[in-house]
Amino acid sequence: MDQGAARSIRVAVRVRPLLPSDGVSTGTELLQLDRSNGVVLSSSSDRRGGRRYAFDSVFGPDVLQDDLYVRAGVPEMVAAAAAGFHATVFAYGQTGSGKTYTMEGYRYVGASGAGAASGAGAAGSPAGKAGAARSVPHADFSSTPVAQLGIIPRAVRDLFAAMHKSRDRHYTIKCSFVQIYREQVYDLLNPASLTPGQQQQRGLAGGAGAGAAGVGGPLKLRWSKAEEFYLENLFMPEVETAEEAMAAFQTGVANKVMSSHRLNAASSRSHCLFTLHVSSSPAASRLELTSSRLTLVDLAGSERAAHTGATEGALRDESVAINKSLFTLRQVITALTDAAASAAAAQVTAASSTASAEGAPAQPAAPQARTAPPHIPYRDSKLTCLLKHSLGGNSWTLMLACLSPADRFYEENASTLDYAARAR
Ligand code: ADP
Ligand code: MG
Repeated sequence: MDQGAARSIRVAVRVRPLLPSDGVSTGTELLQLDRSNGVVLSSSSDRRGGRRYAFDSVFGPDVLQDDLYVRAGVPEMVAAAAAGFHATVFAYGQTGSGKTYTMEGYRYVGASGAGAASGAGAAGSPAGKAGAARSVPHADFSSTPVAQLGIIPRAVRDLFAAMHKSRDRHYTIKCSFVQIYREQVYDLLNPASLTPGQQQQRGLAGGAGAGAAGVGGPLKLRWSKAEEFYLENLFMPEVETAEEAMAAFQTGVANKVMSSHRLNAASSRSHCLFTLHVSSSPAASRLELTSSRLTLVDLAGSERAAHTGATEGALRDESVAINKSLFTLRQVITALTDAAASAAAAQVTAASSTASAEGAPAQPAAPQARTAPPHIPYRDSKLTCLLKHSLGGNSWTLMLACLSPADRFYEENASTLDYAARAR
């Protein structure tokens, strides 16, 4: 990773193992990984056949969670967040490709029909404390084998380790966990933000937790000059240890699982953002505050973006309508990458008159970059509004594209690889 870069974006690919649910007659010939971080998709019947995509790192079905964490460069991102830089990790891919496994790293226990079976008797647990309502599929990080833990628990562990090791800085860490569903933002740590159905299921309607922040329903996105975009009444508990942060995360996961029951598999259609808000100051001078965010994002399933048989134009329109935020996210990342590249090109042009590194003629965008800032379409989706702070400026971004190995996912994999390759 380029330590000197003001903005660093890396794109990695992970192919999960074949699962029994992929079907018995499935093959894995169409997707090949090569030794130099390339992915080759081949099909004689498709015009994209044989196309090779290059990434910063590529992980096959055998990669261990810890290996992926280290080799994708997440520890450096956590260190950057502790040092005052924003860092964001995205998991992208179709539903079932391994995004949640990669980010969280356990399997839900008792997922089928659990909510229906015992919904009425559910006892709510206070937000920010360990322990999910008993009626929901149970995700218990403390009993998950360490080897299976995904990026979030590892990043939490490392962030707190960095904080506790630091002698010369004083740290405060808060966390937040939100779900964006149909362009509405819900607070996964605050039951008051859940839908009425969700509250009822948890026995929270009118109960102690329901009025915690004095609001119900989705959070309002607001803008202020100082904070830019922010969520009104977002619950952001301070967490002093990794265990406290994981307890808060687990509460949010329980709420997320419940909402997927209530809203008909909404969890695959929603984005979940777990954010650690880090602020620190030198031990000697508490007023020199530095703040940064480490945001870990499990994106909505990308499957609707590519519809077999759709023309290019229709495909694009559909993805705007159905998953506007994934489309906008790519636009934002691409625009930021282009802006950084043209700023760098402008510097090179200023220093010498040689041709650009690509061998192409000088980009007309280069002089423009100095006069007017490029347009970055943050406002086009809630996801990108919420990430504006973290993606612009000095920041580290990792896009982890997840693929299912079965041949029948050829089209989805092609679409995921196109998306990820363009983010670089
Ligand atoms: P997504 O979040 O993209 O919808 P999941 O993370 O839920 O996908 O993964 C789908 C299924 O595949 C789950 O049962 C999960 O446990 C399993 N799975 C995903 N990735 C792996 C992996 N690398 N190793 C073992 N099982 C995996
Ligand atoms: Mg998932």
